[in-house]
Amino acid sequence: MKSVFVRVLLGSLVWTAFAQDPSSRGVNFYSVDREIQLGQEAAADLERTLPAVHEPKLDAYIAQLGSELAKYVGPQFVYTFAVYDDRRPLAMQPVAMAMPADAFGMQPGEPVAIAGGRVLVPLGLLAGAPNEAVFAFQLAHAMAHIAARHSTRRASRQQLVDVTTAGLEAQKAGAVGQMAPALQAESLSLTRRFELQADGEAARIMAGAGYNPEAAIQYLEGQSPAAQAAAVLSAHPTTSQRVETIRSALGNLPARAYSGGAGGFAEAKALAASVR
Ligand SMILES: [Zn+2]
Repeated sequence: MKSVFVRVLLGSLVWTAFAQDPSSRGVNFYSVDREIQLGQEAAADLERTLPAVHEPKLDAYIAQLGSELAKYVGPQFVYTFAVYDDRRPLAMQPVAMAMPADAFGMQPGEPVAIAGGRVLVPLGLLAGAPNEAVFAFQLAHAMAHIAARHSTRRASRQQLVDVTTAGLEAQKAGAVGQMAPALQAESLSLTRRFELQADGEAARIMAGAGYNPEAAIQYLEGQSPAAQAAAVLSAHPTTSQRVETIRSALGNLPARAYSGGAGGFAEAKALAASVR
C-alpha cells in the first residue's frame, strides 16, 4: 500500500512539473541570485574552452544591437555577448545551464543562451544572416530563453525526474523501465515548448526594437527541407511549428511600420565573414 502511495505521489509531482506552462512562472528550485552565479560559472568554463573571436568592432555592434533588444526583454537580467568561432566542429559536452538543450551538439542554429544573461554568438550566424532583422531575431530568441529562465526550469525538472526514478528503483525495478520512455518523451516535449516560447517572445522583442518579425518567418521558411524537419528525438520543434508560433505572436502585436533597426549590419556581417 505504501509503495503504491509513494509511486502515485512521485508520479504526480513529476507530471505536475511537466504539465507546467512554459512561461517563467513554472517550477523552479533556483533563486535568481543562484541562477546568475551558476550561469557565470558555466560561462567562464565554456569560454575557457571555446575558440573566442575578439574583434572590437564586432563586439561593439552586437553589444549595441543587444542593448536595443534588451529594452524589450525585461529588467531581471543583464545581457552580455561574446562571439566564438564555430567554423570547426567543437567537441563540447552538453551544458546544464545553457539553452538550447543540445547546444554545441550540431551546427548552431541559434546563439547559446546561458542562465543569468550571457549569450555566446557563433560567428557563422552573423556571417550567414541574410539581414539585420534575422540576426536580431536570433539574439532576441537567446535573450528570451534567459528571461524565461529555461535553463534552471529544465534543471529543476531533471531533479524531479531523478528523485522519481530513484524512488521507483527503491520500490520496484520494473516500474523504472516502464516510465523511462515516457519521461524522455516529456523531457523533449518541454524543451520544444521552451523553443517555441523563445520564438514567440523573440518576435515581440524584435518588433519592439523596430524589426519586422516577417523577416524571421521568411528566414525559417527558406531553410532546407532537412533542416526544417525535427527528428523524433530532437529537442527542437519543426519549422512549421516555429512559423506558426511567430505568426501568432505577430497577430497579437499592434500594426505598425518597422524602421529596420539600428543599422551597421552590412559592415558587421562583412567583418564576421572576414575573420581569420
Ligand atoms: Zn532556442
